[in-house]
Amino acid sequence: MKQGKLLYAGKAKSVYRTDTKGTLIVEFRDDITAFDGGKKDTLKNKGSYNAGVSAFFFEYLEKHGVKTHYLQMLDKNRMAVRTLSMIPLEVIVRNVAAGSIVRNYPFREGIKLSPPVIVIDFKDDSRHDPMLNDDLIIALKLATPAELRKIKKISLEINRLLSSLLARQGILLVDFKIEFGRQGKTIRLGDEISMDSMRLWDKKTKESLDKDVYRFNKGDVMATYNRVARRIMTGGAARPAATKKNTVAAQRKVPGSPGRAAKPKAKKR
Ligand code: C5P
Repeated sequence: MKQGKLLYAGKAKSVYRTDTKGTLIVEFRDDITAFDGGKKDTLKNKGSYNAGVSAFFFEYLEKHGVKTHYLQMLDKNRMAVRTLSMIPLEVIVRNVAAGSIVRNYPFREGIKLSPPVIVIDFKDDSRHDPMLNDDLIIALKLATPAELRKIKKISLEINRLLSSLLARQGILLVDFKIEFGRQGKTIRLGDEISMDSMRLWDKKTKESLDKDVYRFNKGDVMATYNRVARRIMTGGAARPAATKKNTVAAQRKVPGSPGRAAKPKAKKR
């Protein structure tokens, strides 16, 4: 497949046309931003960690019946995906109160939200992604009532699947943001699911394992992304401390691992 013209460049990903009908290439760049682009950096290998983790989650979700845009990894930063007509909604699923709902509402950080809370924002940087409600979504014709019901149902299913997958690896899925698109009449999960779009806490220590490390200068961002990518993709939390011989990376290719050309398993559909 040949990469064609740049179609769209976001804050951390670029989307390219290809010579294959219905297929685009998403490139995960090393750029990282926070606070509406107010904080910006380029961190070596960051794109490959997010691409690898996204591919891992997309494959897992597809295996469990969730339709996504994922086709295959082309190299450590580039993913072939189905062309979708994206719906400008940011669907946020929250299991634990953190981030903006603690700032905006009287929730105490860390309290469990059961059942999970779904918040949907309008994806529009110029308006700072304002929160929507069902009536606004319908009035703005962003989705039909049936599509909205479907989007919420799929989002809760993704939450159920990823929460239990991550829990097995000692990670609490606090919240995450996902985006959907249409392929004909089918709603598919698009965009990415990575450390940039999720809030992940170590179950025991409650340590942040996600972009909050970057947002709030909580430590070495790339060391965190490297560690959590290994943990997610290999169940590395249960393994003994890494030595040269027993590193998880030595057993399975992990993006950005020292001295290895990362190449998550390609899968054709
Ligand atoms: O900032 P807030 O608490 O609303 O974020 C909720 C979740 O959605 C976090 O995991 C955050 O990383 C993600 N998010 C995102 N992109 C945005 C807004 C939030 O990935 N534009």
